[in-house]
Amino acid sequence: MNPGRGMRGYTPPMPLPELASRLAALVGADRVSTDPAKLREAARDLTEIRGTPPDVIVRPAGLEHVQAVLRFANSERIPVVPVVFNTNVGGLALPSNGGILLDMTGMNRILEVNADDLYMVVEPGVTWGQVKEHLDRNYPQTRFAYSLSPPDTSVLANTLMDGLLNLSLRFGTSSDWLNGVEAVLADGTVVRTGAAAWSTVQWCSSAPMPDLTGLFVNLHGTTGIVTKASIRLQHGKRLRRRYFMMGYDLRACYTTIRTLVREEICDDIGLLTWPVAKMLFGEKRPRWRGPGEPLAMIYLDVSSNRQAEMDLRLSILEETLEAGRKAGHAWQGPLDVRDLVKIEPAFRKLAEFPTRLDFMLDHPGGGLSWVGTYGPTSRWDEATELAVRIMEEHAFPPFAVARPMAQGHFGVLRLIETFDRDKPAEVEAVAKLNAALVEALLPLGFIPYKTPEWVFRAHGSKIDAGFREMLRRVRSALDPNGILNPGKWPV
Ligand SMILES: Cc1cc2nc3c(=O)[nH]c(=O)nc-3n(C[C@H](O)[C@H](O)[C@H](O)COP(=O)(O)OP(=O)(O)OC[C@H]3O[C@@H](n4cnc5c(N)ncnc54)[C@H](O)[C@@H]3O)c2cc1C
Repeated sequence: MNPGRGMRGYTPPMPLPELASRLAALVGADRVSTDPAKLREAARDLTEIRGTPPDVIVRPAGLEHVQAVLRFANSERIPVVPVVFNTNVGGLALPSNGGILLDMTGMNRILEVNADDLYMVVEPGVTWGQVKEHLDRNYPQTRFAYSLSPPDTSVLANTLMDGLLNLSLRFGTSSDWLNGVEAVLADGTVVRTGAAAWSTVQWCSSAPMPDLTGLFVNLHGTTGIVTKASIRLQHGKRLRRRYFMMGYDLRACYTTIRTLVREEICDDIGLLTWPVAKMLFGEKRPRWRGPGEPLAMIYLDVSSNRQAEMDLRLSILEETLEAGRKAGHAWQGPLDVRDLVKIEPAFRKLAEFPTRLDFMLDHPGGGLSWVGTYGPTSRWDEATELAVRIMEEHAFPPFAVARPMAQGHFGVLRLIETFDRDKPAEVEAVAKLNAALVEALLPLGFIPYKTPEWVFRAHGSKIDAGFREMLRRVRSALDPNGILNPGKWPV
C-alpha cells in the first residue's frame, strides 16, 4: 500500500461508527455510507493500481457540506480524497491510506450558461453528456469541446487535469479553458479565482487576476476541493465534418499531421494505430496486422460557417495528401465518417462526441490502463517507434494514440492497454509495461499527464529540486496537516 504524505501510519482518530455518525450529523445520514462493498470498490479503478478502501464515503450536496466535512477532517487529521466518476485512468482518486472519500457526484448542477460571453459555470458532478444535451437544446449557437471519455464522467474534473479535448488543437488543454474556480481549502476557507475573485457580475476571464487557478490544476485535489468552475464555451459552427484517412507509413503520417497543423485547417487531428480499428470491429486483443492492412487511421475535424471556406480547407487537405502520394506514400481517403458509418456501423462510435468507447471497457475483467504523455511533436516518430517496440516486446498490441495540441506547440502520445483486472499475471504485466514505457519516453521529453503516484515515486527525483521545494511550501500553506488526497504528488 502507499502511505500518504503526512499520513504514514494513519489510524482513524475514533471508532468507525463514531466517525460515520459525526459525519452524518454534518451532512445527513443518507449522505454517508460505510457499505463494505462500496468501500472495497472505491479502492480500485479501471487500472492496475490499487488503493486502500476508505473508512467512509460522504456525498456532499453543496458548498456548505464540503466546508463542514473539511473543517471536521482537518481538526481530526483525517485524509479526504475527492472523486467524481473515478475514470482518470491513473489511480488519482484512490485513497492511499483510508479516510473519507468525498463523492462529488451529488453536486451536479449547471449553474449558469452565458452564451454572449461564452462561458458556463458547473459543479463537479456535471457530465459531458449533460452539458452536450443542455447546450444542444438551449444554446445551439455555442459549442463545447469533448473528450473521448465516457459521457457520464466529470467535465470539471477533466479541466483540473489538463485533459485533452476535440478542440484542444485550437484552444489547448481543458485547463486552458478555465476562467477560474471556487474551492474549499483544508481548513474550510472558500476561495474564488479568476475574474470572479473581484467581480460579482462576470466570470468570463481569468485575466487580469494573478493565475491562482493553477494552484488547483494537475494537483489531484491535494490543494483544495473545487466546488464550481467557470469554463469557456466557443462559438458554434454550422458546418462540421470528420474525415478518416488510412496510412501505411508512420513517419509519413506524422509528416502529414505536422503539415496540416501548420495549415491551420483542422479543429482536431488524431492518429490511432492499427489495433484500434481491429478492436472497433470486435477483436479483443489484436496481435497481428495482416499484409496490406493500414498501419494507422488519422481522423480530422474540419468546421466553418461557410461552404466556401470548407471547400478551401478540403482542397488544402487533398493537396497535402497528394504531395505525400507523390513522395511515394499510399493513402486511403479522406473518407467522410458519415459514409464510413453507412458501410460499417461500428464507426458510429468514432463519429460523434461524447462517446462511450465500449470496446476499450466492456471485456472480461474490464481493465484499462495507459501511459499518456505530452511531449514535443518533433520527436513523435522516434518516440512512437520506441514505444511500439516496447509494447510488442511485452506481448501487448501496439495501441497508440497521437494528437497535436495547442496549435502544435506540443502533442499527445498515449499507449493503451486493455487487460483483465482479476488476473494477477495480467495486472503485473501491465505494471511492468507501463514502467518500461515511462522509463523510455521521459528522456525524449514525453511527460506522463494525469500523473500517477507510481510515476512520481519512480522518477520524481528528476523533477527540479527548486520546483519540488516550492510545491511543498505551497501545499503546506494550503493544507498544513496534509489531509488532502495524501500520497499524490509525493514531493
Ligand atoms: C475510454 C476512456 C477514454 C478517455 N478519454 C479521455 C480523453 O480523450 N481525454 C481526457 O482528458 N480524458 C480521457 N479519459 C479520462 C477521464 O475519463 C476524463 O478525464 C474524465 O473527464 C474524468 O472524470 P472523472 O469523473 O472520472 O474524474 P475522477 O477520476 O473522479 O477525478 C479525477 C481527479 O480529479 C480529482 N477531483 C475530483 N473531483 C475534484 C474536486 N471537486 N476538487 C478537486 N479535485 C477533484 C480526483 O481526486 C482525481 O485526482 C478517458 C477515460 C476513459 C475510460
